[in-house]
Amino acid sequence: MTMTTTISPSDNVLVPFAKQLRQEHPSVGIAKLLQQLKQAHPDWAVSEKRLKKVLQPPSSTEPGLVADTGIDPTLNASEIAPKVKVRLFGGEKGKGLVAKDKILQGEVLWQEEPWVVTADSSLQAPLLQQQMCSQCFTAFPLRNPPLSVSCPHCDMAHFCNRLCLSKAQSSAHHPLLCPGQNKGALELLKYIHRNAARHLDATAKIVAKWRAGDANVYQRVWEGMARVNLEKKEMERKEWEFVGEQRRKEWGTAHQLLINALNPPTTSPNYKSFQKLVTKGRKSPPSEEELDRWFSFNNFLELLGLASINQEDSGGLYALHAHINHSCEPNLMARNLPKTFVPPVDLPCSPPPPNAPGVRGTNKLTMVARRTIHPGEELTLPYVNFNLDREDRRRMLRELYGFWCDCPKCQREAKSSS
Ligand SMILES: [Zn+2]
Ligand SMILES: [Zn+2]
Ligand SMILES: [Zn+2]
Repeated sequence: MTMTTTISPSDNVLVPFAKQLRQEHPSVGIAKLLQQLKQAHPDWAVSEKRLKKVLQPPSSTEPGLVADTGIDPTLNASEIAPKVKVRLFGGEKGKGLVAKDKILQGEVLWQEEPWVVTADSSLQAPLLQQQMCSQCFTAFPLRNPPLSVSCPHCDMAHFCNRLCLSKAQSSAHHPLLCPGQNKGALELLKYIHRNAARHLDATAKIVAKWRAGDANVYQRVWEGMARVNLEKKEMERKEWEFVGEQRRKEWGTAHQLLINALNPPTTSPNYKSFQKLVTKGRKSPPSEEELDRWFSFNNFLELLGLASINQEDSGGLYALHAHINHSCEPNLMARNLPKTFVPPVDLPCSPPPPNAPGVRGTNKLTMVARRTIHPGEELTLPYVNFNLDREDRRRMLRELYGFWCDCPKCQREAKSSS
């Protein structure tokens, strides 16, 4: 057999593959994407026209997904960022941040560490090989450097020093999600690692904080943060009819693992040890209503959806950063700078240059002004690469974040093309 025969793949094979390609190569044109597809599947006969059709954005007459959102009562914005205030715009726009005072180019508005730390799948290996701090993601120059400490209960987490270990107790490595302290969490953790399930990781960490008695997490999550139901969000995707059943099955499995880890039934062999762990932080056991709030399947999808729209690639969930709306011509940049960075005092100045090759920033975010910002102006960040074409940007924003961008740049470009 030397002949290669070509076949025309059916939509339920082609659509998920094409979407995946598009996600991996968000900024290449359709011809390049077709090349990639042919490399991966030399036996497929797919025309450029068909690929284009398959990847068509949802029609822009379709309304945006409106996220539930409010003011986070546990957050004191002006304490973190004195020149910034939170504003509720209402409608599809929800909330955002505006400048209180004049801000100069290069000025650092605030620095913020994640309240829930989750790692990108590319960091799993260095984290497990003790080459990186599980809390702040500082890369170690060598394995196990002096002052560094491991979790005293398991071998899954390693820290720069005791301070990072102590911070991790409420964010990166919660005791309820440490397999050395809560055996029931092991299967959940394995599932998260195996599937690079980052939204599930964030969800588990949020629920663990509440379960252990963190008083603020209820208000932050259910009253403050923008939230959509993940199933509703995913159902809008073209490939849903082919992958929907599989997704539901995966969510069902993940949900069960979460319950086994953080609310084990009385019949579970881990029940007793789990109860011992949680009674430390809580005065009384959670009510039925509370358990339903945090463990029902529907609210599990709400939490996954919350993670999917708020999670920042470089580090997890950030309280104030999560308030910033998107613009295709943003006035801020969010940077992960090396530990040695010192905010400039001579302003205005150029924003810090990209980190030198091989120099990793920590997961602390530094918010820097790209240009002068006037009082009353809204602060914005790019959620997607703002150098993409208008159509590509808007399609990605609609798919990933549920809204149609109508920023000044999008409006200008719409006018100039019509
Ligand atoms: Zn650290
Ligand atoms: Zn541990
Ligand atoms: Zn725009």
